[in-house]
Amino acid sequence: MTRRDAIVVGGGVIGLAIAWRAAQAQLSVALVDDDPGKGASWAAAGMLAPVTEAHYGEQSLLALNLDSAHRYPSFVEELEAATGMTVGYRPSGTLVVAADDDDTAAIDELFRFQRELGVPVQRLRRRECRALEPLLAPRIRSGMVTEVDHQVDSRRLVDALLAAGEREGVTVHRRRATALRLDGNRAVGVTLSDGDVVEAATVVLAGSGRSRVRSCACAHRPRRRCWRARCGASCTARLCTWCPGPTGRSSLGRPSRSAGSTRR
Ligand SMILES: Cc1cc2nc3c(=O)[nH]c(=O)nc-3n(C[C@H](O)[C@H](O)[C@H](O)COP(=O)(O)OP(=O)(O)OC[C@H]3O[C@@H](n4cnc5c(N)ncnc54)[C@H](O)[C@@H]3O)c2cc1C
Repeated sequence: MTRRDAIVVGGGVIGLAIAWRAAQAQLSVALVDDDPGKGASWAAAGMLAPVTEAHYGEQSLLALNLDSAHRYPSFVEELEAATGMTVGYRPSGTLVVAADDDDTAAIDELFRFQRELGVPVQRLRRRECRALEPLLAPRIRSGMVTEVDHQVDSRRLVDALLAAGEREGVTVHRRRATALRLDGNRAVGVTLSDGDVVEAATVVLAGSGRSRVRSCACAHRPRRRCWRARCGASCTARLCTWCPGPTGRSSLGRPSRSAGSTRR
């Protein structure tokens, strides 16, 4: 049995960042994940998109997301300095493209809503979209651009967070957590898949919706449909968001929908 100040179950972008920050705050930290960094954070397109993903009823969330986006450059700078690794942060703006009349109407509506909120967005004609991104098909109708939405390489990001945590003294247990250990209704530790036990004053469950740790409520998570394609591939997705990646790989995505969580 091992004892730490904090246990973080789940080594995705959330758990890794928490573990790193907790270790920086002088806590002894155990991170539990059989394959850190290979969950949703590995699949993600890495869009940092408070503006293009702002929707009705999410005004408070928008304020939080804009604040987070504002802090992102210094977060990246600190992480890269701590590890000597790059995370592919690209403050290059995001272009939302309409392929037909329905998309155009949807973008018009989103644009009006975002302007009402005072969010910096600009409506573009087809020619202006293609000037920004020449690989777009000539038949696209129009678009919308914002300089606020950026991108990070989510795979490099989790690699760097893992390295930063380990440098800061986080102990990584490459196993599953199979059960939460309780003292009354208080979490005091976890049992690992090999039977080992780690106890701590603070237990953080950051295993996304599929953690299957007994005795805990599963979190509700958004699921996103996303297609990845090499630059130059044609896109037939409706109202897609185009996000060129730092290594020539691009991500094409549709707006997210909530439907639990799956592992693929
Ligand atoms: C296809 C796709 C594209 C996306 N694109 C974007 C995007 O462009 N921008 C954006 O902001 N978001 C995007 N998202 C959402 C984003 O990826 C997630 O919100 C984010 O990665 C969640 O991070 P996390 O750390 O909570 O979960 P994860 O990255 O899934 O990490 C959870 C970790 O917990 C571990 N774990 C689970 N259970 C246990 C257990 N019992 N014991 C030990 N370990 C356990 C798993 O192995 C995993 O490593 C996308 C998601 C998907 C699926």
